[in-house]
Amino acid sequence: MNITAVDVFTLRHTLREPFGFSQWWYSQRTALLVRVTADNGLVGWGECYGDAAVNAAVVRDFCGPRVVGQDPRRIGVIWEDLYNRSRDYGRKGAFVAGLSGLDLALWDLQGKALGVPVSTLLGGARVDRVEAYATGMYFTRGGQQASKLAEEAAHYVGQGFRAVKMKVGLGLAADLANVRAVRRAIGPDIRLAIDANHAFSARAAIELGLHAAVEGLWWFEEPVAPEDLDGYADVRAALQPQGVAIAGGECEATRFGFRDLCVRRCVDLLQPDLGAAGGFTAGLQIAALAGAFGLELRPHTWGSAVAVAAALQFLAALPETPGALVPGERWLELDQTENPLRDELIPGFPERDGPWVKVPDGPGLGIEPRLEQLAPWLV
Ligand code: CA
Repeated sequence: MNITAVDVFTLRHTLREPFGFSQWWYSQRTALLVRVTADNGLVGWGECYGDAAVNAAVVRDFCGPRVVGQDPRRIGVIWEDLYNRSRDYGRKGAFVAGLSGLDLALWDLQGKALGVPVSTLLGGARVDRVEAYATGMYFTRGGQQASKLAEEAAHYVGQGFRAVKMKVGLGLAADLANVRAVRRAIGPDIRLAIDANHAFSARAAIELGLHAAVEGLWWFEEPVAPEDLDGYADVRAALQPQGVAIAGGECEATRFGFRDLCVRRCVDLLQPDLGAAGGFTAGLQIAALAGAFGLELRPHTWGSAVAVAAALQFLAALPETPGALVPGERWLELDQTENPLRDELIPGFPERDGPWVKVPDGPGLGIEPRLEQLAPWLV
């Protein structure tokens, strides 16, 4: 079997209402899908996380010419070759995001070639469904932020979610008002994580964390800049006595990047995004690191149905470390903001019952994007 083509498809949806987080406003959602075609007619699909145009150039102009003609089953060889060829100027960011989308597509293709889901290739599914937490509660224009966030959080709880994640990063007073309003709306038993998207210095993050901890925080995500591992360590040391876990890693990539988070032990929860950290190939390596260092994985997921399907395959196969009579938790991040690329690309997917999302059991990723389905959003 040989690869005959590597194609990219940029999808775009213009939002009815823009929303913001600590760094910028979204007015549209985009996704870059990667399709690998083999000479026997099989195709595999993947998705890159990050800027679609830049990632498209990496996949089309850097990865494509180097892998056409190669055997798509030699995924590890292809991964290392592309990583080594871009090491001098890559290592994370768009180069690894491009490699990630290609890697996911190769695993999808491999699963289809063998007639098994990717979870089987990753070691075997431990579960057939995964609990999702609702990501939402972004900032909107027009004031009354706290009451709007509270209403949105209550809506997710009404939908059956038992855990939610909200944005912070507006400054101490506004963030605290929002967190308190959301906690009042969801009651004491729903898990509540906060996500700053690296908006704070360590000092400011600790200040917010100490005040917000009394509301009961599941975790505090990306409190400081991804480069600031000392800051992460300071935040973790200050908030650990308050029972607040620190999460990070969605901007990090490969075993090398996550090695540093593990060795420094500056986070409790590692959050690799399969579309940014190096695909399933790197995901397995990062899972091994997490297990060896005794840290938990909470994969980051933000994208189309393809990214969600990849996350489900990965989560289902995550090893139990340390293992117990009552299985450990595995959580799917399920963005709930307006995005038809996630909810309408594949009819009937994701299949959710309350907070539980079914792991697709068909070959590969278990979903099959079709060009005619992509058409409404194709750029
Ligand atoms: Ca995040």
